[in-house]
Amino acid sequence: MSCKENYLEVLDKVKDDLKIAGRNPEECTLVAVSKTKPLELLKEAYDAGCRDFGENYVQELVDKIPQMPDDIRWHMIGHLQTNKVKYLIGKTYLIHSVDSVKLAKEIGKQSEKAGITTDILLEVNVAQEESKFGFTEKNIMDSVLEISKIPGVCVKGLMTSAPICDNPEENRTYFRKLKQLSIDIKKQNIDNVYMGFLSMGMSGDYEVALSEGSTFVRVGTAIFGERDYSKNI
Ligand SMILES: *Cc1c(COP(=O)(O)O)cnc(C)c1O
Repeated sequence: MSCKENYLEVLDKVKDDLKIAGRNPEECTLVAVSKTKPLELLKEAYDAGCRDFGENYVQELVDKIPQMPDDIRWHMIGHLQTNKVKYLIGKTYLIHSVDSVKLAKEIGKQSEKAGITTDILLEVNVAQEESKFGFTEKNIMDSVLEISKIPGVCVKGLMTSAPICDNPEENRTYFRKLKQLSIDIKKQNIDNVYMGFLSMGMSGDYEVALSEGSTFVRVGTAIFGERDYSKNI
């Protein structure tokens, strides 16, 4: 199948899942995760109607942006090093992967310099995987408070990457935890903190994530095929 067909098929599933969950079809955005993929494939997805693309690496993202139409919303979803932040400011619709107060401070600092506010999500490692970045359920509350005071950033919600597993049902508990955390944070009524966005669900588990309230599913492989890291990056 072409990536255009893949994209339309995933989009159909997203719409169906939202309907089944009794949710508004506008409530969730399908983000096509195009890391390591060539521009031809991104353009195919674009022609199929995709306007939201997710990338993991700053250099790759910055290279791709000028080569693609300018009505695209670019999502930074990969681990971001503070020294790379300056290259990204003003180019993203949303940074999903803010995983430390230090990183939020740097995004705020560079955004202020550029005279803008950058919308961010806070990444929570709800599955407590050692290999993953992110806040913990324990430290997220204090961190949100601290980040809410940083000028130049606006917290729009939470993000998580659940473990890779054979049965996506196993990840339901993590999606539920993230949703609950966002409810708990919202209850605190913190200035400059909004909990409208929940970024969760990838190729293997996006349907489960949608039924648990996801507002951004980040789908790579199911749209663009397997990634080959041997040639790239
Ligand atoms: C690569 C990646 C995805 C997409 O994963 P697939 O399994 O290919 O759909 C989603 N989120 C993050 C953070 C990623 O790094």
